[in-house]
Amino acid sequence: MSTSTRTGTPGPTEDRNAGLDFVRAMIAEDRRAGRHGGRVVTRFPPEPNGHLHIGHAKAICLDFGAAAEFGGRCHLRMDDTNPETEEMAYVEAIIRDVRWLGFDWGEHLYYASDYFEQFYELAEGLVRKGLAYVDSHSEDEIRAFRGSVTEPGKPSPYRDRSVAENLDLLRRMRAGEFPDGAHVLRAKIDLASANMLMRDPVLYRIRHATHYRRGDDWCIYPLYDYAHPLEDAIECVTHSLCTLEFENNRDIYDWVVEHCDVPCRPYQTEFARLELDYTIMSKRKLLRLVEGGHVGGWDDPRMPTIAGLRRRGVTPESIRAFCDLIGIAKTNSRVDIGKLEYAIRDDLNTRAPRVLCVVDPVRVVLTNWPADRVEHLEAPYWPHDVPREGSRLLPFSGALLIERDDFSEDPPRGFHRLAPGREVRLRYGYVIRCNEVVKDAAGEIVELRCTYDPDTRGGAAPAGRSVRGTLHWVSEAHALPCEVRLYDRLFSVADPEADAGEDGDFIRHLNPDSLVVAKRARIEPGVATDAAGSRYQFERLGYFISDAVDSRPDALVFNRTVTLRDTWAKISGSRDASPGRPERARPAPRSAPPPPAAATTRAFAERTPAVQARFERYAEAIGLDADTADRLARDERTGTLFEDTVAAGADPRTAGNWIVNDLARELAARPDAPLRFGGVQLAAFLRLLAGDTVSSTAAREVLAELVDTGGDPAAIVERRGLGQISDPAALTAAVDAVLAAHPDKVEAYRAGRTGLLGFFTGQVMGRTDGRANPGVVQDLLRDRLDASPG
Ligand code: ATP
Ligand code: MG
Repeated sequence: MSTSTRTGTPGPTEDRNAGLDFVRAMIAEDRRAGRHGGRVVTRFPPEPNGHLHIGHAKAICLDFGAAAEFGGRCHLRMDDTNPETEEMAYVEAIIRDVRWLGFDWGEHLYYASDYFEQFYELAEGLVRKGLAYVDSHSEDEIRAFRGSVTEPGKPSPYRDRSVAENLDLLRRMRAGEFPDGAHVLRAKIDLASANMLMRDPVLYRIRHATHYRRGDDWCIYPLYDYAHPLEDAIECVTHSLCTLEFENNRDIYDWVVEHCDVPCRPYQTEFARLELDYTIMSKRKLLRLVEGGHVGGWDDPRMPTIAGLRRRGVTPESIRAFCDLIGIAKTNSRVDIGKLEYAIRDDLNTRAPRVLCVVDPVRVVLTNWPADRVEHLEAPYWPHDVPREGSRLLPFSGALLIERDDFSEDPPRGFHRLAPGREVRLRYGYVIRCNEVVKDAAGEIVELRCTYDPDTRGGAAPAGRSVRGTLHWVSEAHALPCEVRLYDRLFSVADPEADAGEDGDFIRHLNPDSLVVAKRARIEPGVATDAAGSRYQFERLGYFISDAVDSRPDALVFNRTVTLRDTWAKISGSRDASPGRPERARPAPRSAPPPPAAATTRAFAERTPAVQARFERYAEAIGLDADTADRLARDERTGTLFEDTVAAGADPRTAGNWIVNDLARELAARPDAPLRFGGVQLAAFLRLLAGDTVSSTAAREVLAELVDTGGDPAAIVERRGLGQISDPAALTAAVDAVLAAHPDKVEAYRAGRTGLLGFFTGQVMGRTDGRANPGVVQDLLRDRLDASPG
C-alpha cells in the first residue's frame, strides 16, 4: 500500500522533535512539510455502547491534546453504526465525561449514523467501479473460503456477479427484501493478500434492528472497516489516531479512502492502548460487571470508568497528569496502577484540606480532665509544604475517640501508638498516657482510661520524655457519625484477563475486599456544612470525597479515593507530602526533587543539561518510554547500570523495565547499601529469565539476593534451587493432584468453561512454589483435560 509505511521511523529531523512523543513528532513533521495544508484535525470516536474508561481518557488526552497544541481541532464523534448495542444514555454519559475531563469540541459533535446515506451512496459507487460485490455466502462459508495465513482464499461463486446484478441486490438489501445474513456486500480486493483483512472484507451486512437514532430507516449497516475511514474523510480529519489492534486494518482504511469519492484524505496512526494493572479495560467486560451485579453500576467507585473515578474523588487534573506521565508509545505494555495513584495523590495534596476522622472508633476517657470542660484547639487545614492558608477550631473534651487499631494491649516491636503505660500525642491536642483498659463481658475493649499532660497543649513536647506516636482523634460528643467506604483495587491480581480465556472468566479474580464499609465512623464537626463532593485528606488515612449520590447532611457518606501509602513515590525517589502520617519517619528524597505540584498538565520536572542529554538518548535512540527514560536519566547510578546492562547484550526495554520497577524497589528497601553487581550480572540475570531458566516469581528472589550479596545469577539459581521446572515428567504429579482435587471444575472445563485453564495453572504453580514453567503446565493440563473422561 502506498501509504502504509508513512508512520514508520522518522527521518533525520528527529532531533527537532526532541521531547515529543512519536505521534506529536509526526504531526509536527507534517506541519513543517505542509501536508494537509498545515491543518490538524483529529477526532475521538467512541461507540456509545458503554461508559468511557480510563483507557479512553488516554486517547482523549492525545486526540484533544495534540490538536490543541498544534492549533488544530478535535471532533467528538459517536461511532454509532451498530444498532444492537447503542443507546442515547451512553451518548449523554460520553459527552459529560469528555467535558468533565476538560476538553471542548466546539460545534464539532458528529454522529456516524448521520452519514448512513453517504456511506450507502459510496458503496453503490464501489459496485459501479467493479470494486464491490454482493456475496450470498453465509458467514461460515465466507470464513471457510478466506483461506489461512499459509493458503490463499478461494473466490466465492458470487464474486463475479455483474455490476447490474450487484446493484440490484444491494438496493434490495437496503429495501429490506432479505432476512439477516442472506447477503453481504464485500469489497473486491485480493483473496491472496498476506493481510487476511484484505481478502475481500465485508462492507455491509443485513440487520433488521432498530437504531437508537435512525429508528427503522435502515436494515443494512456498514462495518467498522468501511465506515470508519469514511467518517474521517467526510469530516476532513487529518490524523486519525487509534490503538495498535487496528494496525492490520490500516490497509483497508487506505483502500477505502482511495477508492471512494471523498473530500479529504485522512491517515491512520496507531499507538499503544492503556492496560492498567488490577483492572480491566473493555466496555464489554465492564458491562458484564454491571449486569452481573458485581459492582453498583457504571459509576461504582471501583470501576475504571470516568464516572467511577469521578465518584471516587479522582480529579480530571490527575487523570490528565497520569496520561502525561505514561506518555504515548508504539508498543503495548501494562501500566503499574501505582502511577495513577501517584498522580491522584500529587494532585489532591494541594487540593484537599486535612481533617480528622476516626473510621473504627474506640473510646478514650481522660480521667484527669475537668468535668464538662471543652477546649477549642486551633488546627491548620494544610501542612507546611502546601502553600495554602486556613484553619479551624477542633473541640477537645474528656471523652474522645481514637482508631481501634491505634491501640494494642500487647504492642509488637516498633509499635509507636497507644499501649498500656505508654504515651502518645493527639494531633493538635495533648499528650496522653493509657492507664487502664476496660472490657465488656465478651472481652472486647470498650474504653481506654487515660490521663493527659496539661503542659503539652498543641503538641508541645512533654518535659524530659520523648513521645513518638501521633494519633488522630475526635471528640465523642462533638463528632458527626458517618459512613466511610473504603475502596480498594477491583481485582486481586494484576492482570485479571491474563489467564481468563476468551469467555472472560476474569470475574473469579474480583477482589472480595474491594469495598469495606465502616458504618460507625465519626468525623470532626467542621465538615457538616460542606457541599456534597467535597474532598479531604483524613489525616493518616487517605484522601476521601463525600459521596455525590448517597451523602446527606444528616447521613454523611465518604468514599476513599486513595490511601496515603505511596510505594510508587518510593520507587521513583520522589516524595508524597503526607504529613498525615506524622509518626512515621520518612526517608529523605533519594534522587530527584519532588515533581511540581498539580499543574494542569504536568510535564516532567526540569532536567539539567546532562540529565536531558541522557533522557534523549534513552527515549529516542534506545526507544524507552518517556517515564522510564526520565527515571533512568535522573539517577546516575541506575542509569549507568542500565547502559552497562545494554552493553552486555540485554534488550534495552526489558532492562529498563526491570531496573526502574523491580530493582528500584529492592534498592529503595536498602537505601544506603552499595550496588554489589554490575551490568554484566544483570544482563546474565535477564538472560536466565528470557531463557525460561527461572520463572518471574523466582527471578524476584534471585534479584533480591543479587542486591544483597552480588554474585553470579546462575549460581544463585543453582544454589537456591530456584530453577524453573520445564521437564513435563517432573510436573505430572502436581498436575494430576490438582485435577484430582477439583473434579467439579474438571467437569465444568469439559462442559466448555475453558477459561478454567488459568485456575488449574495457578493451582499447579502454587504447588510448585511458583517454579513450574506455566507453558509446560498448560500443555500437560490441556492433554489431560481434552482427553475424554474415564
Ligand atoms: P472497548 O474495547 O473498551 O469497548 P473500544 O476501542 O471498542 O474500547 P471505542 O468506543 O471504539 O471503544 O473507543 C474509542 C477510542 O478510544 C478508539 O479510538 C480507541 O482506540 C480508544 N481506546 C479504547 N480503549 C483504549 C485504551 N485502553 N487505551 C487507549 N485508547 C483506547
Ligand atoms: Mg471495542
